[in-house]
Amino acid sequence: MKGSHEMKWEENVRKVVPYVPGEQPQKKNVIKLNTNECPYQPSPMVEKAMKEMDYRTLRLYPEFPEKTPLTKYLAEYHQTEEEQVFIGVGSDDVLSMAFLTFFNSDRPVFFPDITYSFYDVWADLYRIPYEVKPLDADFCIRKEDYIGKNCGGVIFPNPNAPTGVLMGVDEIEEIVKANPDVVVIIDEAYIDFGGTTCLPLIKRYDNLLVVRTFSKSRAMAGCRIGYALGGKKLIRYLNDAKYSVNSYTMNRPALRLGAESVKDEAYFREICGKIIATRQRSEKELAALGFTFPKSYGNFIFASHEKVGAKEIFEKLKEQDIYVRHWNRERIDRYLRITIGTDEQMDALFAALARI
Ligand SMILES: *Cc1c(COP(=O)(O)O)cnc(C)c1O
Repeated sequence: MKGSHEMKWEENVRKVVPYVPGEQPQKKNVIKLNTNECPYQPSPMVEKAMKEMDYRTLRLYPEFPEKTPLTKYLAEYHQTEEEQVFIGVGSDDVLSMAFLTFFNSDRPVFFPDITYSFYDVWADLYRIPYEVKPLDADFCIRKEDYIGKNCGGVIFPNPNAPTGVLMGVDEIEEIVKANPDVVVIIDEAYIDFGGTTCLPLIKRYDNLLVVRTFSKSRAMAGCRIGYALGGKKLIRYLNDAKYSVNSYTMNRPALRLGAESVKDEAYFREICGKIIATRQRSEKELAALGFTFPKSYGNFIFASHEKVGAKEIFEKLKEQDIYVRHWNRERIDRYLRITIGTDEQMDALFAALARI
């Protein structure tokens, strides 16, 4: 049983080139500035709830995903109705479900050429046609590319990843308004670090979906919590698709701990404020070391050195157990994406960069 016969089933496999996340080194004591995690702990209320959790509740299926403590607190926090909140296992789960549900046209979905590199993977996986729209020379999204072009949907992060460049709410509104027959998804993974949310627009536009995550600003990447906000009809369609794949994606502990995090707004503001302050200081330090970068509204800086190549810096930092992110891709291979860590971690980075 060799050769062609054996190979035939492979022709019928759904093949995809998977997304590659940043490295998660097993070594201890590394300075990890490569996946935009939060350097601070989750809220003390999360800690308390985790310690009080009763393992016996794991016997039961979790709450019905449309109506949980988490959806309740998120709706209160964002002043929406609970039927306007969709939750998932990280925003990757939410975004994947949104691609499957809303991008169902023969016309191509539009997103930027430099952006979150999961979008083209989902499009390929679900066989959704797409077209990438080049950012301008300053890494800004050109809103004209998304207006009057008869597309099958629009998605981009705001601020964009990995550049950190923010688009104004007025421009987003123009895009949403110009595309009433398709869904526009704004991925606000990094909005808590100083950007202005476009969330108020969901009241006026029923084709806008705003996606958020607990992984960056809420220091809970390991818990896998993401959510989307939009009109009730959008959320209903998302839940219909979700229930058709796996009704109970989120587990009991995640639902409980996520709700605790939302309750503790003071702590949330405090850690976001610290990261913004460290980012501002890092801009000065990096500029003094000869780096240039677009103004970032994320918990990272996308920086390029005038003399030394990014790959070389990336490798030399790694030798010193400092991990940052580098892509061997056209247009961005001269750049490093550096996550904002604690002040001490950043000082270690600046010292290492000075040596290089
Ligand atoms: C990190 C990130 C996500 C995914 O985050 P989850 O951990 O799955 O919630 C989504 N979009 C962008 C732009 C991101 O940077």
